Amino acid sequence: MTDTPADDLKPLFRSDVTVELIKHTASDADVLFAARVSTAGEQSLEELQKDPERSKGLINYLMRDRHGSPFEHNSMTFFVSAPIFVFREFMRHRVGWSYNEESGRYRELEPVFYVPGEDRKLVQQGRPGKYEFVQGTPEQHKTVTAAMEESYRQSYAAYQEMLAAGVAREVARATLPVGLFSSMYATCNARSLMHFLGLRTQHELAKVPSFPQREIEMVAEKMEAEWAELMPLTHAAYNANGRVAP
Ligand SMILES: Cc1cc2nc3c(=O)[nH]c(=O)nc-3n(C[C@H](O)[C@H](O)[C@H](O)COP(=O)(O)OP(=O)(O)OC[C@H]3O[C@@H](n4cnc5c(N)ncnc54)[C@H](O)[C@@H]3O)c2cc1C
Repeated sequence: MTDTPADDLKPLFRSDVTVELIKHTASDADVLFAARVSTAGEQSLEELQKDPERSKGLINYLMRDRHGSPFEHNSMTFFVSAPIFVFREFMRHRVGWSYNEESGRYRELEPVFYVPGEDRKLVQQGRPGKYEFVQGTPEQHKTVTAAMEESYRQSYAAYQEMLAAGVAREVARATLPVGLFSSMYATCNARSLMHFLGLRTQHELAKVPSFPQREIEMVAEKMEAEWAELMPLTHAAYNANGRVAP
């Protein structure tokens, strides 16, 4: 049986994603601490305030010469709500990431679905590896919105029909599309985040350009904004060195 009141069954269509920094122990001082532990030990935590230029220089040197491990001694946990097709791409990032995602077996999935916004470029041109995306026409946007909403309504109605007939959630969910929103906690460190950002953002400063799907890039951009506030020197060094993870 479905456990959701009828009012909550109305589909919600979203064109954005949610990223919240839930908890963190992450600062530029953590990088210095790790890099200098062999000579200065715990004193290095105060280094940042004492000699900011030297700290900046050391972080830049570590980034440039790809001494990566000092960037691992920190932690950021994000809450992410995004379509399942984004999660499929996200969870390919195996190293330095921990994930926990909501269950479609233990809870009834809510009818929240992705529909591209007006600013989402709809038309793909070029060949694989050299794609370019251009704006869709108002008609194309109308077609996309109508087709997606109709398809989502149908699949969610089928899901509800099966639940109402007593079918298990883990069976009924097979009818739901990858445009359904899911949620997860994702924990990483600055090094694994930088590797992720290098692949999942398209950025003018990138030495090695990547061409990610826009929706995972939307998630990546929000994560990057949170991280840049926590570790401004590390973020600046990452940009200055071509956005290549050390
Ligand atoms: C634009 C784009 C398009 C993509 N298209 C496709 C696609 O069409 N099909 C598809 O299947 N995937 C695709 N991917 C996913 C891609 O192949 C990677 O799985 C994903 O980007 C994660 O990267 P990663 O393995 O470097 O990250 P992580 O898994 O986090 O690994 C980090 C680093 O650790 C090392 N490492 C991790 N595991 C191993 C291992 N087993 N052996 C050796 N070294 C390891 C590597 O140096 C790796 O770069 C695409 C990714 C992008 C960004």
